[in-house]
Amino acid sequence: MDYQNILESIYKQILPFAKEGKPADYIPALAAVNPDRFGMCINTIDGGEFAIEQSDVRFSIQSISKVFALAMALSLKGEEVWKRVGREPSGTAFNSLVQLEIEHGLPRNPFINAGAMVILDMLLTSLDNPEEEFLNFVRKLSASDTISYNTVVSRSERETGYLNAAIANMLKYHKNLDCEVERVLQFYFMICSIEMSCKELARAFLAFANHKNHFEYAGVSLTSSQVKRMNAVMQTCGFYDEAGEFSYLVGLPGKSGVGGGIAAIYPSRYSVAVWSPRLNSKGNSVMGIKALELLTTETEESIF
Ligand code: GLU
Repeated sequence: MDYQNILESIYKQILPFAKEGKPADYIPALAAVNPDRFGMCINTIDGGEFAIEQSDVRFSIQSISKVFALAMALSLKGEEVWKRVGREPSGTAFNSLVQLEIEHGLPRNPFINAGAMVILDMLLTSLDNPEEEFLNFVRKLSASDTISYNTVVSRSERETGYLNAAIANMLKYHKNLDCEVERVLQFYFMICSIEMSCKELARAFLAFANHKNHFEYAGVSLTSSQVKRMNAVMQTCGFYDEAGEFSYLVGLPGKSGVGGGIAAIYPSRYSVAVWSPRLNSKGNSVMGIKALELLTTETEESIF
């Protein structure tokens, strides 16, 4: 498969959508990002790397980090994880408070904000240096030692994070957080502020595409069955309230973030990361979804 040619052809086809959507502006530090950036990178499990445009430029991965958090929690706690968080699509916004109240503080899945906070609470009670160990895991997974948090972004999120604070308080009220609310929020905003390039993200997600191999990075160890199940949760819950549409259009498991990044995998074949900051009304990158739709259409490779 000539992925390089395919990527270049995709880029030409999505250019007409370049001004559609708008970047997330509810996080002030994210509103400052140049909205016209674009990068895309594919890593194949036989060692190929194919990239176009600004694939080396780092951006705020935001909710994509929730995949790494779930991997760490599953490695530490196994099936115990599912006692405190579900694995069903939420059908509501990623930061909805209403559903969490109705369902007595049990988040629908680990990729909405409430679910990620519960997962991070598990890491906080199990690890000695959670922030350091988290970063170390992401660095090993992507083979890049310089990946880091952006504390300007995390501070900016905390200062305006009224809804996330409400979610954490609701979880605490329902006894689904062991740590203090402020500690969980601090960790949550830190992992959302991690910056990675498309190349680094594609490399990190290759381990999930390669689910038949044992997963072992920086002490985070998952069986192939656990990775397969994580991919299932990405498929059903990875795209906010648009997971069904993403499945319909693209047909790959993955995770998006409000920084405009999307990482996805084609099991046993490749991982792909794409970045374009302009988002649709559901919070997913407009050009990112278009590019991935074209990728699975042109290659005729999807899980369906
Ligand atoms: N830090 C963001 C928030 O909590 C993450 C949103 C996202 O990427 O889904 O609002």
